[in-house]
Amino acid sequence: MKYCKKCIMPTSRPGITLNEDGVCGGCLGFKEKKEEIDWVSRGKELDKILDTFRGKGDYDCLIPVSGGKDSTWQVYTMLQRGMKPLAITIKCQYRTELGQRNLDNLISLGVDHIDFTVNPEIDSKFMLKTFEQNGNPSLVEHLIMWSTIIKTALRYDINLIVWAENSALEYGGSKDDRNKFRMDYDWIKKYGVTNGTVAEDWTDENLTLNDVTSYRLPDESELNEAGIENLFLGMYMEWEPEDIAKKSQTVGFEWAENPVLGLHPFVGVDCDFRVVHHFMKWYKFGLTKLWDNLAIEIREGRMTRKEAVVFLKENTEPIPNKEIESFCTYMKISKDRFFEIAESHRNLDIWKKDTTNNWYLPEFKNEFGFWKEFLK
Ligand SMILES: [Zn+2]
Repeated sequence: MKYCKKCIMPTSRPGITLNEDGVCGGCLGFKEKKEEIDWVSRGKELDKILDTFRGKGDYDCLIPVSGGKDSTWQVYTMLQRGMKPLAITIKCQYRTELGQRNLDNLISLGVDHIDFTVNPEIDSKFMLKTFEQNGNPSLVEHLIMWSTIIKTALRYDINLIVWAENSALEYGGSKDDRNKFRMDYDWIKKYGVTNGTVAEDWTDENLTLNDVTSYRLPDESELNEAGIENLFLGMYMEWEPEDIAKKSQTVGFEWAENPVLGLHPFVGVDCDFRVVHHFMKWYKFGLTKLWDNLAIEIREGRMTRKEAVVFLKENTEPIPNKEIESFCTYMKISKDRFFEIAESHRNLDIWKKDTTNNWYLPEFKNEFGFWKEFLK
């Protein structure tokens, strides 16, 4: 585990590697976005692509939406460009009231919308299994998202799916992956929060192939034959979280009163489970949402690396008890069991015990010269 010399991102975060100068892919991607990419010509390129999909069927494109800042802006952007989108949500089992209001607002911008609810009996069983084995609370949610959205495009004969940002560019990935304009199955495997698995990998006598049909991706060849394009909008227009959140606010997207996690009140506001997903990163990668936020503050020049370290020294993040309780209720487990599972996924390559038997991150202490528990 090493830390980026420019920001504070550790290599324990999936997809993060440092170049020979000790700089992470997230910082390099940021530099490319600011200095190398000609966004005006990218915008023109986008218009040309959209022209080829307009007016071909009932809908010009399919937009996966949660009701968050990104989806609001995806929908608004497509409507502004004269597209007729169908929006689809894989309903989070613990959608917040604010999440529902934001989703209603997004629909009122002028789109048809499908709210896809998954069978909770199978879903909660599947979620518990993946959480126990991989410590990833969002794995199942992502499996069903990728597969159901792609299948919906196939079934409605929609040839264009408009995704938000390429997270390899936004949060760090290899040079090749940062330059991907189209999402493919290889990308899903690496960045799709599925731990490189597919639904079929999880089946047994208690969770059959028939149980998990909604979680199974169609063959990639089927997509290619149908001519479906999976486009990252963030490769054609600058996609910076705070900027997108502010723009979405101008078309009715509401922020939370206070940040649910990390620095910003526009992150993780639509679903309780999202918050648990970020919480588990503490055990697995030794970071919280603050790390992502501070890295972006540093890259944007709003904070120096030194100031970010002071911020870490002076602040803690609350343990998201309410959200953990929702998650436990859904999976029918106790909170004690939750923490037992969480603990079993503590990454022992990076976490060690100090002389008083408390967990700490030795590399963090080496790099920044102090240590404290960040989650309280
Ligand atoms: Zn960095």
